[in-house]
Amino acid sequence: MDKNIKKHNVYISEEEKTLNWEEIQTSFKKTFGNEIYNSWLQKISLIKEFNDYLILGVPTRFFRDWIVSRYLDKILEQVKSFKLSLNRIEFKIIEENKQNSEYIKIDQLNKVTEIKDSLLNYNRLNTNLNFDNFIEGKSNDIALSYSKKVCEHISRYNPLYICGGVGLGKTHLLNAIGLELQNENNVMYISAERFMYHFIKSIKKNDMVNFKDFFRKSSVFIIDDIQFISGKESLQEEFFHTFNSLIDKGSQIIISADRDPLKLDRVQERIKSRLAGGLVVSIDTPDVELKKKIVKKKIEEIQNQFKENINLNDEVINFIANESKTNIRELIGVLNRVVAFGRVHNKDLTINDCKNILKDIFNQIRVITVDKIQNVVSNYFNIGLSEMLSQRRSRPLARPRQVAMYLAKKLTTRSLPEIGRRFANRDHTTVIHAVKTITRLSEQDDEMKKNINQIKSILLEQ
Ligand code: ADP
Ligand code: MG
Repeated sequence: MDKNIKKHNVYISEEEKTLNWEEIQTSFKKTFGNEIYNSWLQKISLIKEFNDYLILGVPTRFFRDWIVSRYLDKILEQVKSFKLSLNRIEFKIIEENKQNSEYIKIDQLNKVTEIKDSLLNYNRLNTNLNFDNFIEGKSNDIALSYSKKVCEHISRYNPLYICGGVGLGKTHLLNAIGLELQNENNVMYISAERFMYHFIKSIKKNDMVNFKDFFRKSSVFIIDDIQFISGKESLQEEFFHTFNSLIDKGSQIIISADRDPLKLDRVQERIKSRLAGGLVVSIDTPDVELKKKIVKKKIEEIQNQFKENINLNDEVINFIANESKTNIRELIGVLNRVVAFGRVHNKDLTINDCKNILKDIFNQIRVITVDKIQNVVSNYFNIGLSEMLSQRRSRPLARPRQVAMYLAKKLTTRSLPEIGRRFANRDHTTVIHAVKTITRLSEQDDEMKKNINQIKSILLEQ
């Protein structure tokens, strides 16, 4: 145990290296299949091996974003089967023309290895996520404007709580705030998941004093994805005290979550009311205008970065913006794929090309089943799966049930009778009724529309 702790996050010596990258690549090929392997995974190189994490090299930022959003979990799982102590992977971008030579940005790497204190190691802001490249639209203008105001007047809006579904820009905004404030403040940025990791580690090491000091000395405390504390009682306790002591000394707190503070599930009431006690702003799903702007901005970035000309006509840009439904992360992923395809085939793309590329992507990564829909929906509405499928007709059960049937019809290829059977042998007319009801509600009722969009984005992410 002791030995492990000492080694934690320290760069390990040659003799201790255990990974054979070629062997891992071979296993990637088997797991992911030739196509994904050839387009993506093959290009990943191993830069450095640490006791509990790896630094892998990738050719571009877009490449990294794509891999992280699509394959990271599986990659981690796969490499873990070769190295049990692994719990994290980091990516470094290696400039393409230098990738094959010995040259690696040594300076950057040294910075990582020199940070012996694992707490510091996670407090890194991503300089690519800043205010300059955050595009404003109707769905995010309020969140953006208050994020900027917080930077001007610390602790006026305290805490600032930013909520919204996955891939809509919460982490981007938190990073932007951190970058803006870091020169003049002691900024701590951490995800709730990491916060827990350190919390547990400190308990194990009997080092809570250090833990408390470390987090309580910040003057700006930014915590991402707070919904993660759901159901974790002792973590909530610790968070509550950290929160109070920061507020007492006038530190600014900025929080993100996938939902409203009051809707957080299995979180103590007193925490919810603290979280809701400052300013709550939400980011909604982007409209087509915003998506088009983002696509154009990203194209600009790619052109500048690679000094290449990317010809995507307006029709294609519209198509991409319309096709990716709810999530900006996905939108960027789709664009990357389209650009990569255009590069390989060296041609101006048509809508038909795009359709083929998207079909390919959706087939690979999205198998949405009725089971999955039922699980996600019952979780979302915080009811038991068996209750949702039961014959009870009370509205708190009937609505989620109808939402799940509606989504099963919209997102899977199952027929109405098949869907009915999956819902405890209901008749297909019940499914038709559900589809009609939810279609109507999602047009008339903003809350329902929002619920449906959020559930869809959860389903598309998984
Ligand atoms: P979340 O934390 O809400 O899940 P992220 O902040 O990780 O979402 O955003 C997902 C991706 O979309 C990131 O690459 C981010 O830079 C990009 N993104 C989101 N919103 C915008 C925006 N308004 N302008 C530019 N890029 C955005
Ligand atoms: Mg995030």
